[in-house]
Amino acid sequence: MEKGMVSIDRWNEGSQAYFLTHLHDDHTAGLSASWRRGPLFCSPITASLLPFRFRGFDVSLLRVIEVGATRALDLVSPTSRAPVRVLVTPIDAHHCPGALMYLFHGTFGWVLYTGDFRWELSSERSQLAKRMLLDVLQGNAIDVLYMDNTYCNPSFSFPPREVATKQVIDIIVTHPDHDIVIGIDNLGKEELLVNISKALNIKIRVWPERLRTMHLLGYKDVFTTNTSLTRVRAIPRYSFTFETIDGLNQLRPTIGIMPSGLPWLLDASKNTTLYASPLKSHQSEASPDLLQHMPHARKLKHNAYCVPYSEHSCFSEIAEFIKVLQPSNISGIVSSTYIYINPRYYFSHVDRYLSDKSCESFKSEVNQMGSSSGCQPSLKVRKEWKIKYVSPRPSVLVRRVSRLPRARRGAKIEESDSRSGS
Ligand SMILES: [Zn+2]
Repeated sequence: MEKGMVSIDRWNEGSQAYFLTHLHDDHTAGLSASWRRGPLFCSPITASLLPFRFRGFDVSLLRVIEVGATRALDLVSPTSRAPVRVLVTPIDAHHCPGALMYLFHGTFGWVLYTGDFRWELSSERSQLAKRMLLDVLQGNAIDVLYMDNTYCNPSFSFPPREVATKQVIDIIVTHPDHDIVIGIDNLGKEELLVNISKALNIKIRVWPERLRTMHLLGYKDVFTTNTSLTRVRAIPRYSFTFETIDGLNQLRPTIGIMPSGLPWLLDASKNTTLYASPLKSHQSEASPDLLQHMPHARKLKHNAYCVPYSEHSCFSEIAEFIKVLQPSNISGIVSSTYIYINPRYYFSHVDRYLSDKSCESFKSEVNQMGSSSGCQPSLKVRKEWKIKYVSPRPSVLVRRVSRLPRARRGAKIEESDSRSGS
């Protein structure tokens, strides 16, 4: 697809249609109350939460799209100015509430952008999403897969959320005289909290803004801000530190639980702060202990536990996802400098076009680069299997897009609904 037609989770580029996968902060950087660039497509849940996240946002820009419903967008080629029809089908990402993947189809082929996603093999929702994807594809292969590569490393092996939930409940039950604090983000892990509430027949305390989010999500009787009603409370992830837990223990015996697929450690320099370890690459210099599988809850210091409850896919789930879709080209969407893991490194072998020989030469090249630079190289393999570095697009394209009349940049586009296959 040409640049300047569709933007996903990117808000500062000239585009004709904008897609939001979900409302986590790292996907909304650049989005604000005053953002007016064009129509913004998202799920019904995201559309209901977004005006509260960005007060004053022009809601007339929102275009709500339902899981499984294919929509046709009539866009314009930024280079030839010829009309281009793009079909898009949202698929359940099973990440946080409202999270979607987007499957695009047009003369450019089939492109799937996963956003953040969890692909639990045992989950009915994932099975449904899988059937939906395959139904829409009708035997066609994905040409380009933009994938959540957060845990795209065999080191990351953790159980389904159902199992991790039991681990959290066990910790709470075995500490009947303790207060419990659980670190969460401003969206996500609601099911964990609801299941704790059900299992123990208690309410969960949250902070006021989070209570409003819970109410918008339809949870009416599970959550409270009343301190006297419950010993279990969720706190913002950024405030979940050893210092916080120590401070709370000065007042009452307190256990901290961090649900995360990342190993959490002591900061060696301070010996107090909890932080997510930066796994730089498959050749990480971090402690070998870090690279062990994490199927169980771990007790850290200071009455703090790390439980492998994750809303991202672990490595085996990513492997299954790629096996099912057999994409011709894969690109990781998580590109923060210290955790970028190129999916091509681990999954070149599943590609039906790659011979064993070219696979080996690819891996050996990656290894050489990794050892010289000390971090995972950012590589992209083209369809003809020549290794090519990912470089910024020529700025001329951006300028050309920004010169387009407002109507062609996205202020007004023709939309029509059509079901897949129709
Ligand atoms: Zn997310």
